[in-house]
Amino acid sequence: MKKKCLFCQIANRETPTEILFENDLLVVFKDIKPAAPLHLLIVPKKHIRSINDLTESDRPILSELLMTAKDMAERQGIAESGYRLFFNVERGGGQLIFHLHLHLIGGW
Ligand SMILES: [Zn+2]
Repeated sequence: MKKKCLFCQIANRETPTEILFENDLLVVFKDIKPAAPLHLLIVPKKHIRSINDLTESDRPILSELLMTAKDMAERQGIAESGYRLFFNVERGGGQLIFHLHLHLIGGW
């Protein structure tokens, strides 16, 4: 039996993960291996392998990821001090989980 995608499981609440924010399109939770004092992952509920697999119809999802990142930075109190947003794309780009996700790091 093929193992189900970890981020699909989290988005479907099939694993015990603290969800910091959720709406129709995405979920937000903490990275289990934080690279900064605050390290959030903003993850679409739709399974998309990587940036390479985005299609025209995914534009609203991409827009929502970025707007949510901005809101989360404000809510977590790091908007003023600054933060980084990034996507790792495929293995060479450092992607470890092959379900699209936006990293938000900050809080230094
Ligand atoms: Zn998935």
